[in-house]
Amino acid sequence: MIIPPRCFTCGNCIADKWIPFIEAINEDKNIDKDVYNQNDLDIKFIDPDQKKVEESIEGKILSEMGIHKYCCRIPFISNVHLISTI
Ligand SMILES: [Zn+2]
Repeated sequence: MIIPPRCFTCGNCIADKWIPFIEAINEDKNIDKDVYNQNDLDIKFIDPDQKKVEESIEGKILSEMGIHKYCCRIPFISNVHLISTI
């Protein structure tokens, strides 16, 4: 799937944020190798006993980029990056 140019729900322009999002994730995951080398699935679990839930790297980056609405975050989180160039 190619990232949609605009959010399907609210119409906010999101396509221009895709490449900075991917670059920021790759940069953060390379720095944070110790956490991600522990399992191959790249999954972090939420401990419900904690009072404050820690955001994932993707969530932190989306918040830093100013994408706070759930409708706009969905394409970034759920997009399967199959094609690098057209
Ligand atoms: Zn939206």
